[in-house]
Amino acid sequence: MSTIEFNITQRSEKSRARLGVLRTPHGEIETPALVTVATRGTVRAVTLEQAITAGSQLLICNTYHLHLRPGEEVVGEAGGLHKFIGWDRPLMTDSGGFQVFSLGFGRDYNLGKIGPTDASGQVKAGQRPKMLKIDDAGVRFTSFIDGRELFIGPEESMRIQSLLGADIAFAFDECTPPNADREYTESSVAQTHRWADRCLEARDPKQALYGIVQGGKFVDLRRESAQFIAGRLFDGFGIGGEFGEDKDTMSEMLRTVVDELPENRPRHLLGIGHPDDIELIIREGVDTFDCTVPTQYARHGTAFTSAGRVSISASSNLRRHGPLDPTCDCPTCITNSLSYICHLYRAKETAAAILLTVHNLHYFNRLVEDVRDRIRSGSI
Ligand SMILES: [Zn+2]
Repeated sequence: MSTIEFNITQRSEKSRARLGVLRTPHGEIETPALVTVATRGTVRAVTLEQAITAGSQLLICNTYHLHLRPGEEVVGEAGGLHKFIGWDRPLMTDSGGFQVFSLGFGRDYNLGKIGPTDASGQVKAGQRPKMLKIDDAGVRFTSFIDGRELFIGPEESMRIQSLLGADIAFAFDECTPPNADREYTESSVAQTHRWADRCLEARDPKQALYGIVQGGKFVDLRRESAQFIAGRLFDGFGIGGEFGEDKDTMSEMLRTVVDELPENRPRHLLGIGHPDDIELIIREGVDTFDCTVPTQYARHGTAFTSAGRVSISASSNLRRHGPLDPTCDCPTCITNSLSYICHLYRAKETAAAILLTVHNLHYFNRLVEDVRDRIRSGSI
């Protein structure tokens, strides 16, 4: 029996979108929902209390980073991540698979997760990344903190995630590099599938476990991967990897995957979600998704507002004495002026990152809330 329960409360007649409630041992999530990224057990620049005020319903922490520092034994001793970080609400941990990608070919080719790739640098079958060693057992790599040799495989990922004790864990996968050729992608998907079965064997039954669909930019491999993962006893499904270079391709990929997944289990899209992607991915039937955009952009001085992006440091903002976004009711916009935040940012004050992160998180959560309202009223 699953430790989570997912009830779909409304299905759109216009798209694959659905409204639902995801019940976990630490409370309920209204879906579709943005999952706030808390890589090292914290939402950068803000307290978890501030994240709640900004509308965050659940967090996703990073297994790889917490394994390196402070180590899952420390978190386990504290009674698990919920106690360690002081968060008694729903929590996810990712599997570490994305780090395999970013430390490996991601570093070799300086790749982002989405967007144009360097055509001159295609990853071919049999090729190995420079910084780590992937084989059937798992991934061997060197800690960037102290140079220790480390290993994570499916069983290790399940053991670490069990000690971390989030409500939802993810199966260990290889996030295929976006510039991988077909042959490489085929063998990478097969690897991810073998690891998925080993994760199911090694899982902690006290946690929910999501299987991850890969397949890179190849529609038929995506379908095959979705069929394989859908046929296993996972509590939900993650969709990982690359989705093509434009929005139409992304829609097509998502549709292909979602059509193969069981209707009544939750779907999570890993690491995607610029403001203009949100409605699109929800229309294709995604229930939860995580992305670093609201927090990362905030720290680099970009605010998302109802009038578009605002680059905080622009000197013209120093004379704007109204709120950053007049339509926003976040604590930042209620209390502070754009001029003040611009001054703080230019003076390199920590408070600028705090105020912008609160606003951006609130803005993104409001966007998703607005999409939920439009599904409810039948317009999406
Ligand atoms: Zn605001």
